[in-house]
Amino acid sequence: MQDIKSEYLHPEFETLDREQIEALQVKRLQDTVRHCMNSEFYKTKFNELGISPEDIKSTADIRKLPFTTKQDLRDTYPFGMASVPLEKCVRLHSSSGTTGNPTVILHTQKDIDEWANAVARCLWMVGLRPSDVFQNSSGYGMFTGGLGFQYGAERLGMLTVPAAAGNTLRQIKFIKDFGTTAIHAVPSYVTRIKEVMDQQGVDPRKDTKLKVLAIGAEPHSEEQRKRIEEMLGVKAYNSFGMSEMCGPGVAFECKEQNGLHFWEDYYIVEIVDPETLEPVPDGEIGELVLTTINREAMPLIRYRTRDLTRVLGRTCPCGRNHIRLDRMKGRSDDMMVLRGVNIFPIQIEKILMQFKELLTNYLITLTTDNDNDNMTVEVEVDDLYANDNLHLQQLTKEIIRQLKDEILLTPIVKLVARGTLPQTDGKAVRVNDLRKVYS
Ligand code: ADP
Ligand code: ZN
Repeated sequence: MQDIKSEYLHPEFETLDREQIEALQVKRLQDTVRHCMNSEFYKTKFNELGISPEDIKSTADIRKLPFTTKQDLRDTYPFGMASVPLEKCVRLHSSSGTTGNPTVILHTQKDIDEWANAVARCLWMVGLRPSDVFQNSSGYGMFTGGLGFQYGAERLGMLTVPAAAGNTLRQIKFIKDFGTTAIHAVPSYVTRIKEVMDQQGVDPRKDTKLKVLAIGAEPHSEEQRKRIEEMLGVKAYNSFGMSEMCGPGVAFECKEQNGLHFWEDYYIVEIVDPETLEPVPDGEIGELVLTTINREAMPLIRYRTRDLTRVLGRTCPCGRNHIRLDRMKGRSDDMMVLRGVNIFPIQIEKILMQFKELLTNYLITLTTDNDNDNMTVEVEVDDLYANDNLHLQQLTKEIIRQLKDEILLTPIVKLVARGTLPQTDGKAVRVNDLRKVYS
C-alpha cells in the first residue's frame, strides 16, 4: 500500500538525479531500438541507415536515429508500425483523421498498465489521494482523454466518475451529489460549467468540494488558468498529452506550477528547429520531438509532434529532476500568417484574459477584404458590463491598442453577449480562417 503522506507515487523514478535519468534513458533507448527491429517500418529505416542498438551510447546518440512523422503513421495505417504481433495487442486508439487516414496507436496490456501508472503519477503529484473523487468530463471512446484518465485515476485508487463530455447540468449534479473533489476538463469547457453553475445558483466554493482541476488537451494561457482558478476556487494544473504518446500522462505540472514535467523514464525529449531539425538551445522555442522508451506495441522514434515550446529547466523545488517545458505555444499548424506577421491564437488570448469584463470564450476570424488580410476578434462580455455602452467603447479601444502592441497589426474587435459564440464539448475552435475560400 502506497504511503499517502509521500509526495511521490513512484519515488524510485520521480526523484532520480540527472545522471541516473540519463543512464536509464540510454538503457531504455537501446532496448527500444532493438525492439523496433520487429517493426517492418523501423527495420527498413534502421537498415538503410546502418543503425544497431550498440550505436546508442548516450542520449545524444538519439540524433543518429531517423525522425517519425504523422505522415508516416498515415502511410503505415493501420498496423504497419507495430513492433509486436497483433495478437499481443489489447487496445487501439485513433485520432479523428479529418484529412486522409486517421492515425492508429496500438497497446499491449503492459502499455495500458504503464500508461495508467503515468497518469496516476501525475494526479498524485498534484495532491490527489485515494480518498478523492475524480470526475472526467472528456469524451470516452477513441479520444484518449476518456479512458486514459479513467484508468489512471482508478490506478491511484480514487472513486472515478466517467461523466464523459457534455450534459453540463448532469455534470454539475454529479459534482454536488458525489462530492467530486477533482475534475479533468478542457479549459474551454470549464467556462461552460461555471456558466451553468451561475444559472443554477450553484456557488462552487460553498456548494461543492472541488479543489483540483486537470486542464489540458488544448493550448491555453497562464491568464486563462488564473481565470479558471478564480472562477471555481480551485488549483488548476496543466496536463499535456497526445494520442501518439498514449494520451494524457506525458507531462503535467507539479504544485509549483512552473512548467510541465515530462516523464523522462517514459520519453526522451528533444526541442528542434522545425526547419533545420537541429537542436535549439535551452530557453529557445522549437518543435517538441518525443521518443517513447517504455512502450511495447508501437514505440515511436523521434516523433515530430508539431507542438512548439521551450525548455525551462531540469530541476525543480518539488524534488523532481524530470525536464520542465513551457506551456505549449500552439502547434506549428496553428500559426496564422497575416500580412507577413506570424501570430498564434494564444498571444491574443493572453491579452483578452487580462480584462475582467471579458469572458473566456473568443473567436478569431480571418478574412480577405480588398486583397488585404484582416482579423476580427470576437469575445464575450460578462453580463455585468453588457449594457454599459460607453464603458464598452473605451474597453474596445484599449483591447485594440494592446493587441496591436502584441501582434503588430490592428484587428477589428467585437464585444458580444455571453453565449453568442459557438461552443463545443471537446477542444475549442479558436480560429475561423475564411481566407482559404478566396485563395
Ligand atoms: P488531435 O491530434 O486529434 O487533437 P490529441 O488528443 O492526440 O488529438 O491531441 C494532442 C494535441 O493536443 C497535442 O499535440 C497538442 O497540440 C494539444 N495539447 C494537448 N495537451 C495540451 C496542453 N496541455 N497544452 C497545449 N496543447 C495541448
Ligand atoms: Zn516540480
